Amino acid sequence: MSKENPSINDARRRKFEKNPINGTKFTIAISSAKGGVGKSTFATNLALALKNLGLKIGILDADIYGPSLPKLFSIKEKPENRDGKLIPVSKYNIQCMSMGFLTDEQTPMIWRGPMVTSAIKTFTQKVEWKDLDFIIVDMPPGTGDTQLTFAQEIKVDGAIIVSTPQELALQDVKRGIAMFDKLKVNIIGLVDNMSFFTADDGKRYSIFGEGGVKKTAEEFNKKFLGEIPINSDIGKYGDQGKPIVESMPEHDISKLYLKLADQIKSIYL
Ligand code: ADP
Repeated sequence: MSKENPSINDARRRKFEKNPINGTKFTIAISSAKGGVGKSTFATNLALALKNLGLKIGILDADIYGPSLPKLFSIKEKPENRDGKLIPVSKYNIQCMSMGFLTDEQTPMIWRGPMVTSAIKTFTQKVEWKDLDFIIVDMPPGTGDTQLTFAQEIKVDGAIIVSTPQELALQDVKRGIAMFDKLKVNIIGLVDNMSFFTADDGKRYSIFGEGGVKKTAEEFNKKFLGEIPINSDIGKYGDQGKPIVESMPEHDISKLYLKLADQIKSIYL
């Protein structure tokens, strides 16, 4: 009986193996089905909270059309190109990369799918990420080319889906869950952002509805990771380019992010 040539097996296995991002232990994708639900705000604060736990963290802003990281981290410098590799910009002790570092703010991004795919490949293969425990990937909203490229070609260790509790957003969350499940990307869990507002009198108002994200998580047998209320300090510090976890680590909101970061850390490390 002829045995298959082991080198053919190796080649076949390699073809189906997904590439980890060089220089990183774990890749966590932060995703949302809809724009404007607070995904980038969540991604940056989670990254900072993980750093505060003593881990080495990178952020890859994978939203090629609408990068947020330059504003949220107030980064104006361009990454250095060293021997054909881009060196991430270091801010708040986090290694950062974004399309926004390479184009100016006013340049409209009118790229086609294949160009987006090649930008993502550059950011994952030609950036000198160094000794990272986690790289937090801020995905663009929706279920497009970036998600496909990541899921099919890059080793994503887990995805977190951020949503607000409105019905309209939840519909898209279900689509997002279906996509990750189909592409066999492990969903760590769902986060309910802007879940309620506490007024000065201490009364709690569920402006966008109540419990919707948790219910969706249960319906699809996914973990519910927790809720982050509407708090004007979150927007304020984000707008100042120094997110709340970095500006005010003792703030109640920062402690919520820290708790979530602790959950993520304990899953992987
Ligand atoms: P996305 O990445 O989903 O498009 P952003 O992170 O850019 O969303 O957030 C959209 C807006 O909502 C920003 O102005 C941000 O400051 C604000 N925001 C996000 N989360 C909260 C929150 N929990 N409370 C108050 N404002 C928030």
